[in-house]
Amino acid sequence: MERKTLETEVKIELKFAEPRGFCFGVRRAISTLEESLARFGRVYALGSPIHNSQEINRLRTLGLVVAESPLDVPSKAAVFIRAHGVSGEVIEQLAAKGSRIIDGTCPFVRKAQEKAAFLSREGYMVLILGDKDHPEVQAIRQFAGGSVSVVDPTDVDLPAAPGISRVGIVSQTTQRRETLSLLVSNVTRVTDEVRVFNTICGATAARQESVERLAGSVDGIIVIGGKNSANTAKLVEISEKTGTPTIWIENDGDLESGWFRGKRTIGIAAGASTPDWLVHKLENRLASAKSAREDGWEDD
Ligand code: SF4
Repeated sequence: MERKTLETEVKIELKFAEPRGFCFGVRRAISTLEESLARFGRVYALGSPIHNSQEINRLRTLGLVVAESPLDVPSKAAVFIRAHGVSGEVIEQLAAKGSRIIDGTCPFVRKAQEKAAFLSREGYMVLILGDKDHPEVQAIRQFAGGSVSVVDPTDVDLPAAPGISRVGIVSQTTQRRETLSLLVSNVTRVTDEVRVFNTICGATAARQESVERLAGSVDGIIVIGGKNSANTAKLVEISEKTGTPTIWIENDGDLESGWFRGKRTIGIAAGASTPDWLVHKLENRLASAKSAREDGWEDD
């Protein structure tokens, strides 16, 4: 956990959740996208590449165009595939249009796709632990093909279908390890053979644990991240559950001076889709606060 003390009339100490902000896969994808924008000038993305409107606006100024489907992309255009991937069917549609495909699929998501396809080829009925409506899960499902079913994390108490003796299991990368263990244990009770690939990525859990740790040592927590970001919403929920006063902002302009009343130590956490520049801007805004008194804080 990093510490930083700001020189204000009354000192506000800032503590930063660690890790915070972009995960490996999102950082890699955004940097690939930036390189492509510099090279091609205009790049189409299928769906928003990241759940952060400030970052999307910045990328739009560099030439990003967000399209909803391959049908909305002109032929021979440069097309970016976001970190949680797309199905092989979409790739085929793009290839048919002569698209220049820039693949930002996170290697951990790719691993889940490949393991699901492997299990299916080997004749296992494939169970995917995850949210059936999430694009990452839909892509994994499509890669698996064959006999495949998605198990919702809130209902893992499902026995395999009668007569199914070989079950293969993979997970959406953001699921909890405890839930995967529970699913494996439940399936083991009703099938002869279970083959499991743990395709969970630790990035989400690490950010959640970091905000929980931070909550114990600060007077309040600022969580910065998109209001449409599920992983940021989860950080807010965890922080609130600890009882530590928590505020969710999208950028430094959302700060309310009254919230700082009586607080000396402030924790800052950021979702996996929050870029560093937004966190730095927040930090600078707090650093430029002229005073932090019992009645709140004031700008210069
Ligand atoms: S959360 Fe994990 S799997 Fe998802 S993009 Fe980030 S690093 Fe990749």
